[in-house]
Amino acid sequence: MNKADSELIIGLLTQDGFHRTDDEEQADVILVNTCAIRENAEQRVLGRMSELNRHKHVNPELVLGLCGCVSQHLGEKILDKAPYIDLVVGPDAYRDLPETLRSLDQKHEPALNLSWDRVEHYLDINPVREPGVNGWVTIMRGCDKMCAFCIVPYVRGRERSTPHKEIIRQVQRLAHEGYREVTLLGQTVNKYEDGDVDFASLVKQVAEVSGIERVRFTSPHPSHFPDHLIATMADHPEICAHTHLPLQSGSSTTLERMRRDYTAEEFLSVVKRLRDRIPNIALTTDVITGFCGETDEEFQATYDMMSEVKFDAAFMFKYSPRSGTAAYKRLEDNVPEHVKGERLTAIIDLQKDISMLNNEAYIGRTVNVLVEGQSKKDPEKLYGKTDTFKTTVFPDHPGISAHTIVSVDVTHVSPFTLFGEVR
Ligand code: SF4
Repeated sequence: MNKADSELIIGLLTQDGFHRTDDEEQADVILVNTCAIRENAEQRVLGRMSELNRHKHVNPELVLGLCGCVSQHLGEKILDKAPYIDLVVGPDAYRDLPETLRSLDQKHEPALNLSWDRVEHYLDINPVREPGVNGWVTIMRGCDKMCAFCIVPYVRGRERSTPHKEIIRQVQRLAHEGYREVTLLGQTVNKYEDGDVDFASLVKQVAEVSGIERVRFTSPHPSHFPDHLIATMADHPEICAHTHLPLQSGSSTTLERMRRDYTAEEFLSVVKRLRDRIPNIALTTDVITGFCGETDEEFQATYDMMSEVKFDAAFMFKYSPRSGTAAYKRLEDNVPEHVKGERLTAIIDLQKDISMLNNEAYIGRTVNVLVEGQSKKDPEKLYGKTDTFKTTVFPDHPGISAHTIVSVDVTHVSPFTLFGEVR
């Protein structure tokens, strides 16, 4: 989401006559786009801002700005910690950025713009996208779910869906620019609704855009998988056989405290319905260990659920309280750090074994890989992804270029990568 927002900010400033440089030494303005989802990320932002501040010794006129969720979360307080910041802008206020930048006076009195805008979809702005095979398209902003641990609703505001015609316009533009894959983005992406166009209808329209060969979406919410959406996914080969399905916990009592609106059984039922219709589907997930009050039994339920579902990959974290959230205000962060850590290590080890087993099932199979470019570890190899989101590495071959889809015979695997030969 932040990557897409950064591309949006660059588009907005470019449209207004600003020029982009990747050279920090040359820049008159440096903007840092930020994530507040975990405390650790917030700390790293402060470190990065302090590091960038050194450029002010060479160029005292440099404008150093903070964008995104940390701006919205900390607001004016960030200036106590980093008084050299000139600009603090929240995710709903990017449209005013060019004007705000121009209005900064010579002394660079800090400017704050943290206004909310329930109807801001950034229509008519063409993001300047990074070159590659995949283009991000934000189809929803904000979130109404209010999970107890999550800061997103407090920093990104209420949920709103971008008009579907604008989404299709952006996807057509991506196809015209040569992108072959599109990823639809939203905090609860499958809850999309624009009049009578629901997510199933939208994703079908996107899959039908000429030139787009792969459609992905992230992150869907387990509570919003009606049968007709699963049928649409199954019936359109362009819609990739991969779903990121955030579990968070495998215990219904923990899920209730987390204010996730599904039980462990309901989660398993979504997994079953997806696998019944799309047998080769890859599933990835997010899991939190040590949420407020998590008992040994509740953690065991998460461990057992992961063993049962056998996700292809998982993002796993220790719970860290975020100020302003319901859990921060009403629940006690009472699982000792070492217990959170032990539980995290246990599921990381489990997931590594499962990922390896899942990948071993690919040995001897032929997969279609959308080539992204040269492997970072070995310049003689290329890499890309299968539609099941498996990174695949194979020897470079004359005539194969990025953006093409090639067939690769899988010969060996690691927990994170498939390796093979071009057919
Ligand atoms: S649905 Fe996702 S973004 Fe929304 S509150 Fe829950 S965890 Fe946060």
